[in-house]
Amino acid sequence: MEIDETRLNREIDALATFSDAEAPAVTRVVFSEQDGKARAWLKQRFLEAGLAVREDAVGNTFANWPGSRPDLPAVATGSHVDAIPHAGKYDGVVGVLGGLEAIRALQRSGFKPERSIELIVFTSEEPTRFGLGCLGSRLMSGTLAPSAAAALRDADGDTLETVRQRAGFSGSLESVRVTVGAYSAFVELHIEQGPMLEQEKIPLGLVTHIAAPASFRITVEGEGGHAGGRLMPGRRDALCAAAEIILAVERAALATRAIDTVGTVGICQVHPGAVNSIPSRVQLSVDLRDTDVDRRGQVQRAINAACGDVGERRGVSVTTETINADLPAQSSPEILAALTTACEAEGIGFRQMVSRAYHDSSFMARIAPIAMLFIPCRGGVSHRPDEYSSPEEISRGVRVLARALAFLAGGTENGTEG
Ligand SMILES: [Zn+2]
Repeated sequence: MEIDETRLNREIDALATFSDAEAPAVTRVVFSEQDGKARAWLKQRFLEAGLAVREDAVGNTFANWPGSRPDLPAVATGSHVDAIPHAGKYDGVVGVLGGLEAIRALQRSGFKPERSIELIVFTSEEPTRFGLGCLGSRLMSGTLAPSAAAALRDADGDTLETVRQRAGFSGSLESVRVTVGAYSAFVELHIEQGPMLEQEKIPLGLVTHIAAPASFRITVEGEGGHAGGRLMPGRRDALCAAAEIILAVERAALATRAIDTVGTVGICQVHPGAVNSIPSRVQLSVDLRDTDVDRRGQVQRAINAACGDVGERRGVSVTTETINADLPAQSSPEILAALTTACEAEGIGFRQMVSRAYHDSSFMARIAPIAMLFIPCRGGVSHRPDEYSSPEEISRGVRVLARALAFLAGGTENGTEG
């Protein structure tokens, strides 16, 4: 499989210029002006490759290479191109431009697919703007109700409904949903965003499971007052209570003794947030992930119990609101087998692994058999300007992706059955 490594990396660099941050940082928030420019640039690349391009009502973009049997469910690949503030240029992008190059490589080889091969660019994989990640794939898979999506607000108070219309996507959000069985396979190429492949010097990771994230908000209400006037006995300090809850999250995640359980408090908002004022209200954002949804439930129950205990002991009220609780996804054995065969045919080493970050594949798994292919990234670094995967590492992923797509689509190569 011949990959045009130079052009692919030139395109990765070109896409990185659509950014609201100074290079090498990339900031590309969904439906911003730069996101619009990146979308237009990408569409040109898809059209140049002879693909038929369509967009749905939330801006998910589909570039289709028609097969000889367009009546059959298509084989899909793809990822996202939105980037959190001060991110790098590979997260998501490798799966989109790598997917495009995989299709071009197959076209150059003379391959004629039986099933259509479709490249998907998902809208807002990152939760930056609306607080909820994977908006496009959640809507496609029916995981998120269109009415709930429409009502999501950004920091300016604008709803997704308003913002997407402003960006030129006006159809009904109901129409975004895709029927189960519309795709016979979905394969996402992505950087690992962790250090394992690099440390073990293994070129590719075949993802067997994607951990399930759950996030919730804990609000602690105590009693404020003057930091000097109010003496220590009888205080109901909301931040002191929150501090105990944060440690309880850590303890609960450690208690499973499972390497795949992780629990993080990433946000702590203190009200009123003044040096001479006792905190009266604190909001914590908790992120729990696991490959096993029951074990994640155990951790969540342990945290709830700790909240109850802290609330009672400290005389504060503690309420918990679930923001999202997604299901873990499992890769399809058939797609994993196709990827394994492709690695062997290309002579590229691989290992099976778990994805602890969620991806659009987590939601595509509800409507199609999925698998993911990871390439190493330097130092395991991601969501930072110094995120890096070498052209060779990316090429290896694209070669295997191209072969796997050809296998899954079926078809003919130089007149013989592929
Ligand atoms: Zn990503």
